[in-house]
Amino acid sequence: MYAIGMRARFRRITVREGMLFQGPAGWAEFSPFLDYDATESAAWLAAAREAADIGWPAPIRTHIPVNVTVPAVGPERAAAIVRASGGCRTAKVKVAEPGEQLADDIARVEAVRDALGPDGRIRVDANGGWSLDAAHKALSELKRFDLEYAEQPCMSVEDLAALRRRTDVPIAADESIRRADDPYRVVALDAADIAVLKVQPLGGVAACLEIAQRIGLPVVVSSALETSIGIAAGIALAAALPELPYACGLATVHLLAADVVADPLLPVNGQIEVRRPVPDPALLAAAAADESTSHRWRERLTTVEAVTS
Ligand SMILES: [Mg+2]
Repeated sequence: MYAIGMRARFRRITVREGMLFQGPAGWAEFSPFLDYDATESAAWLAAAREAADIGWPAPIRTHIPVNVTVPAVGPERAAAIVRASGGCRTAKVKVAEPGEQLADDIARVEAVRDALGPDGRIRVDANGGWSLDAAHKALSELKRFDLEYAEQPCMSVEDLAALRRRTDVPIAADESIRRADDPYRVVALDAADIAVLKVQPLGGVAACLEIAQRIGLPVVVSSALETSIGIAAGIALAAALPELPYACGLATVHLLAADVVADPLLPVNGQIEVRRPVPDPALLAAAAADESTSHRWRERLTTVEAVTS
């Protein structure tokens, strides 16, 4: 069990927790967010079991282009994160943070555009935080910074579909795929231009490859804020997809205050090498959760196993 602090509050959490374990196929991470119940966490366990017991398809590429992820921080910090990103030419900027105003988003995106220069690419991710009207207003303002796409601007598939007809900014679906009963509704309602796939929430690399094939949209692979052990599964998916037209959201290890491997999956020249690092015993020990947290995770695993068996 690990518990690692976040460098900046992200997705409203300050400490990331999870379990790491080893099987015949390699190391696995099981780290559903703490507010996810056993039913929702079952897919995360399936992904971990795949990593530990089965393994992943052979890669068809050696490097994965990635975006730098900019949390809901002030403009100076946002620019500094882009400059320290390991050469990323694409930035994903978090917007619509609760308690913030559109002016905060504009200032952050403007700072990122200045730091990236005119030929860098910027995507924004609202995590479903805008209403339809707020999204339309925000994208009308933010599009002057030349947006590659807007990720999950509204929460419902219906609102995504309506927004897509009112804006020329491409729409990417994330929560509408990984937290939906039917991930293909975004296609049925013509609600998205791009599909964001995450390995743990969608049940593993093989499951994501099947969704990618069925959904028929360009795919962006993103992380669920894992250590390098979990990120390796996302890298494996990105490496196995037939086509990879966009930078992936897998450069998130730097959002954690520490990692469990000595050679983290971080970008060089904007790309992460396709490889599968193993934990370093000393780093694993340093990241170990305390006894009460570990106990909570053992109970959690038992509860999720009960749902899946
Ligand atoms: Mg997202």
